[in-house]
Amino acid sequence: MRLVVDLNKCQGYAQCAFLAPDVFAMHGEESLLYDPRPEDEQRERVARAVAACPVQAITADGLDRAGASQEASDVR
Ligand code: SF4
Repeated sequence: MRLVVDLNKCQGYAQCAFLAPDVFAMHGEESLLYDPRPEDEQRERVARAVAACPVQAITADGLDRAGASQEASDVR
């Protein structure tokens, strides 16, 4: 999974750090550190963080896509 946070949008609300502490961490009051390639097991937490960010600063690749492409190639 790939993750990008638009730090120009990010207002340091720390919702993401609260919801996915292994992926996002506040560094000081305003700057955010994050793991741009989180493990797949973080997917659910990352999804919650994406949904919770008040300014939609987080973009994650392959959140539903992993599931979706699997379904597509695995037609029953
Ligand atoms: S929730 Fe959004 S605004 Fe808040 S720290 Fe995370 S990325 Fe920044």
